[in-house]
Amino acid sequence: MKNASLKQLSTALAAKQVSSVELTQSYLDRIAQLNPKLNAFITLNPEMSLAQARAADARIAAGNADALTGIPFAQKDIFCAKGWLTTCGSKMLHNFVSPYDAHVILQFNNAGAVNLGKTNMDEFAMGSSNETSHYGAVKNPWDTARVPGGSSGGTAAAVAARLCAAATGTDTGGSIRQPAALCGISGLKPTYGVVSRYGMIAFASSLDQAGPMARSAEDLALMLNVMAGFDERDSTSLQRDKEDYTRDLNKPLTGLRIGLPKEFFAEGLDGDVAKAVEEAIAEYKKLGATIVPISLPNSKLSVPVYYVLAPAEASSNLSRFDGVRYGYRAPQYDDLADMYEKSRAQGFGAEVKRRIMIGTYVLSHGYYDAYYLQAQKIRRLIAQDFTEAYKQCDVIMGPTSPSTAFKLGEKGDDPVQMYLSDIYTIAVNLAGLPGMSIPCGFGANNMPVGLQIIGNYFDEARMLNVAHQFQLATDWHSRAPQL
Ligand code: GLN
Repeated sequence: MKNASLKQLSTALAAKQVSSVELTQSYLDRIAQLNPKLNAFITLNPEMSLAQARAADARIAAGNADALTGIPFAQKDIFCAKGWLTTCGSKMLHNFVSPYDAHVILQFNNAGAVNLGKTNMDEFAMGSSNETSHYGAVKNPWDTARVPGGSSGGTAAAVAARLCAAATGTDTGGSIRQPAALCGISGLKPTYGVVSRYGMIAFASSLDQAGPMARSAEDLALMLNVMAGFDERDSTSLQRDKEDYTRDLNKPLTGLRIGLPKEFFAEGLDGDVAKAVEEAIAEYKKLGATIVPISLPNSKLSVPVYYVLAPAEASSNLSRFDGVRYGYRAPQYDDLADMYEKSRAQGFGAEVKRRIMIGTYVLSHGYYDAYYLQAQKIRRLIAQDFTEAYKQCDVIMGPTSPSTAFKLGEKGDDPVQMYLSDIYTIAVNLAGLPGMSIPCGFGANNMPVGLQIIGNYFDEARMLNVAHQFQLATDWHSRAPQL
């Protein structure tokens, strides 16, 4: 069962070959066995999970099951879930039990899915290695001396290690795609506005987007069907007709035009990653695609632009954590100002503090024009590069990350090195485009390599088709780590 696809699980549940309670319990047992090694979960609550499983079994028995009813999913700990501890990987929220459900959680609940637990993540989703979590680093299931990527590293590790059927992530600058690549799974960041951000703890609101992480493109499509949709509680949620993201999965790829940006295959890309990506492109040619050389001339500015804009938004979003209403409060203080200061000094980790300071600086009088405004202008140019490129091609491909999973501790002292691991993913968030990563081989040390597929706005169904056809022709996505 642990390798079954969502469709297979759904069929097995409908045919009563397995109950949701049995399935949930089998995952909980596997988590109990392997989580001490991987640290993929922050919170487990078997009672609440099994109660949902019993309700799902009743719904299946009553004959009104949906596609995902009874299937256990893990949820990134950035999503508020009623009655669940919701920490966002931070000491600041170490005691925060959410009184309400995020839109994404509600959508899974309405579908009758089971919440298996909350996955570990970089603190407030700031990081690329999961080492900034207050709850300790997550280990890569392919090699526990290495990082799983971040910030959705707990989710990526849990999915790769078969600790859940699939799970959710969020992506502000690469946090779905990069850990998916480093753990050898599939992940999709939708077009900005497709999935509601309501109840998803905010990092950089103009970039944050939730998406599915799973073992195959077909599973991603089924999850996106549940996650996407208009929500009036998020002012940037888009009002569009409901889509079936599985609708194009089986289309042939004949005539597909794949744009290869020369900037994504230049200096800084490791040879083993380049090789696996080039082999994947060759596979696409066999499937009938044609290759179009393109250029994204401003993409090289995406990391500096992102590290002005994302901290600026974060410094504002994180001002709500003041020790007054909820979350961590310093045990001893003199007066109100001292309480704020001490609570924030003790509650936030080093990376979060660095971002708040950068953000406050670039927004301050005298520097706003020099940094924030300039970055906003370049953001527009980065987006325009893509618009130009899509005049010549249908999808863009390249590596997801410049290297395979690095060693725990390897980049901890060098934030700039860490920031560069998102060099190929960040431009996609700045432009608001959809992007995904699928496994496409193994590099040095037998670590997984991810192929990034970037689509035009609202082209998720086509991207999933492109990914699914590759997964029908290859078996990289079904390889599992030995644990
Ligand atoms: N690694 C990037 C950062 O640290 C992106 C994180 C994310 O997408 N949440 O900000």
